[in-house]
Amino acid sequence: MVEKNKSYSVEITDISSDGNGVGAIDGFTVFVPMTAIGDVCEVLIVKVLSHYAIGRLMEIKNPSPDRVTPECPSFKRCGGCHLQHIDYAAQLRIKKNFVDSAMQRIGGFADFACDEILGMESPKRYRNKCVYPIGTDKAGGIISGFYARRSHDIIEVGDCILGGEINERINAAVLAYMRENNVLPYDEKTHTGLVRRTFIRTSGTTGGAGNLDMLTGGLPQIMVVISINGDTLPRRERLIKRLRAVSEDIVSIYININKEKSNTVLGRDNKLIHGKPTISDTLCGIRFEISPQSFYQVNPHMTERLYNKALEYAAITPEDTVLDVYCGIGTISLAAAARAKKAVGIEIVRQAIENAKENAKNNGIENAEFFADSAENAVPKLIESGMRPDIVILDPPRKGSDEKTLGAIAAAAPKRIVYVSCNPSTLARDTKYLTTLGYAPVRATAVDMFPHTCHVETVCLLSKLKSSEHIEVELNMDELDLTAAEKKATYQEIKDYVLEHYGFHVTNLNIAQVKRKCGIIERENYNKAKSEDSKQPSCTKEKEDAITDALRHFGMVIL
Ligand code: SAH
Repeated sequence: MVEKNKSYSVEITDISSDGNGVGAIDGFTVFVPMTAIGDVCEVLIVKVLSHYAIGRLMEIKNPSPDRVTPECPSFKRCGGCHLQHIDYAAQLRIKKNFVDSAMQRIGGFADFACDEILGMESPKRYRNKCVYPIGTDKAGGIISGFYARRSHDIIEVGDCILGGEINERINAAVLAYMRENNVLPYDEKTHTGLVRRTFIRTSGTTGGAGNLDMLTGGLPQIMVVISINGDTLPRRERLIKRLRAVSEDIVSIYININKEKSNTVLGRDNKLIHGKPTISDTLCGIRFEISPQSFYQVNPHMTERLYNKALEYAAITPEDTVLDVYCGIGTISLAAAARAKKAVGIEIVRQAIENAKENAKNNGIENAEFFADSAENAVPKLIESGMRPDIVILDPPRKGSDEKTLGAIAAAAPKRIVYVSCNPSTLARDTKYLTTLGYAPVRATAVDMFPHTCHVETVCLLSKLKSSEHIEVELNMDELDLTAAEKKATYQEIKDYVLEHYGFHVTNLNIAQVKRKCGIIERENYNKAKSEDSKQPSCTKEKEDAITDALRHFGMVIL
């Protein structure tokens, strides 16, 4: 029996998807924040629930080899990062495992493994968007920083190593303006006060201004949005002056009106008080205009790698029509349009679709079309009206897609689906659903868009099965070996060839064994048929020769 307020010695054996260490006391699971795999530690139990307990790390008796000293002095208190105490290479292993195990446990794809995880060379200063809540400290002084772990208390953070160095100076300018003009910070308990948060967006190479050293090129441009619980800022020209004194790269300043009691970062109304309405950024050779509200991937270094992986999996040809569902401001759609006959993007936020159309025009892309509607409404309608995309790319929010959307996508029978996901659990759930509709996951790559946090992005390629009646067989044998099989013979064609030329039947298992022997199946199938276990007899010499002949006939081996 694990008891509250008692101390236990615990060895950490895993990291949960929300970044906590996982161990066990007499077989009972305990989650311990701020620990690493391999730590042996003294843990005080603070909560006991029916299936698990939560412990507080009291002492590390034997540290994990993965432990490093966190670079940020606020790491322990701040809720922004979860894994800064873990070496970056180990963070990547942990995150790849998040994806693999979600696909195995939730998706039911036994032995599933991503090909790799793409990580950053220098996992710092990567965020192009940072939001700093503003409030008061215990002494009543105005501070800005981040919310503390699992709380809404603001802790002061000067320089956050995930964002640009310039952010600290921008925040200092905002606070100085507030102090100078007696502008009060917002207090969420009493819903009084004015300034709620500073929202900073950066694009291009920030060079001397910060060191976001982006791959995206172009001139540095910074947008500052001050979110307020009111309609105006008193003496706002003083704020503008202070911000412009920080850097002339601050080319766009807004106030955002947010009088809601909720925690939404930005309210609906934005008032431009200085400069341009958007900042520009370049991704995959395409220029994008970004407004305060647009969804835009936060790590430009990794976004191009993510999109390039999605495009590689999509393998678009100039004859293809591509449907990009949950398209945001059209980042993936426009990169796809450049390679396709046509690209169609669907997105629920009207403003984002306006940006997408604008972005298409600015880049001279004429074969992209955009619809502002929910995926669950628009995709079935488009398919009913006769649209037949060859390739579907979808990049839903954390809650994943839904059966209506996925059902309509499958009904359109695209040859490939590329699923970009920021949540391994919903990716696994949706992929499982897609297998019931005739698609199977072929390969996946995890991408570390958010170093030091527990988030991970995944690109997963799904391919259409040849026959929905043969999901088991085809999925296990043929489709997962798609890279070779796609251009060449299917299992059925090999069977037919053998029957015709040798007069006997061979099984999928026989073919798989021979293919493996010939080195055609490069990677382990992660969803082996039940029949294909180690107890299976190997293929007879006669069958092996016949199958090898068939493989030779179809140009799959040259022996
Ligand atoms: N592919 C884009 C955006 C991905 S984020 C990019 O890489 O930048 C997910 C997007 O889905 C957001 O823009 C969000 O506004 C949109 N979204 C959320 N729910 C939706 C729904 N039900 N239908 C369509 N779009 C939705």
